[in-house]
Amino acid sequence: MTLERVYLSFCKKLLGVKIQTQNNFVYEELGRTFLIVIRAVNVIRYWLKVTQLENHKYVKCIYLHMYNILISKPNMHTWAKAVCNLLQSLGLHYAWINHGVDDDTCFLSLVKSRLNDAFIQNWMSELSNSSRAVSYNIFCKFEFQPYLNDVTIDKFRFSLSRLIVSSHRLEIESGRWHKPESIPVQERKCQHCNVLEDEFHFLFECSLYNDIRKNHKAILLERTKYSKIYRVNAI
Ligand SMILES: [Zn+2]
Repeated sequence: MTLERVYLSFCKKLLGVKIQTQNNFVYEELGRTFLIVIRAVNVIRYWLKVTQLENHKYVKCIYLHMYNILISKPNMHTWAKAVCNLLQSLGLHYAWINHGVDDDTCFLSLVKSRLNDAFIQNWMSELSNSSRAVSYNIFCKFEFQPYLNDVTIDKFRFSLSRLIVSSHRLEIESGRWHKPESIPVQERKCQHCNVLEDEFHFLFECSLYNDIRKNHKAILLERTKYSKIYRVNAI
């Protein structure tokens, strides 16, 4: 978990967003999964190698010993038991029963795909239950976001990331962190327009930015597309 925290903190620095930014937003922007997913794939890769060793090799002897322990003392925790549980959780228990597979590459690709699918499914469920993800659910798509490569000027790229992952100072977010108590959502209003100041208002409605908006026709085109979805989700 400590390593995961360091990794996440590095990802947030990379995006130029605040440390309080919701973690699942950050994984999505970078199209990354938990480090434990990579570790699990490496564990299975190593297990496949061990299963293919000749029986007199030390590593294989120890593995077979653990395998027998799993049969005689199923409650004892061993590395072999962890591998068996992992395969079971991925619906790939047949590989354990068969002591390996015919095609390692294909199998590892299947393991990766199952682990990623489980991660993304959990990620989607977290987002759908998150009150902070109303805007984010509109923009998000689990993959490395192309703008991170396309926008080469750091300050612009950071600003875009901050807007997308709600790491900004609009009232909808700053009201959440207001001390000593957070401001109720309905009262997080734009000081200029006296309506809810959220990402939609900032991008498409706030009269304070009318001049800037006129020069960016793409924003006006996107407005119609997002307004229906956004207002339905925000209710
Ligand atoms: Zn406004």
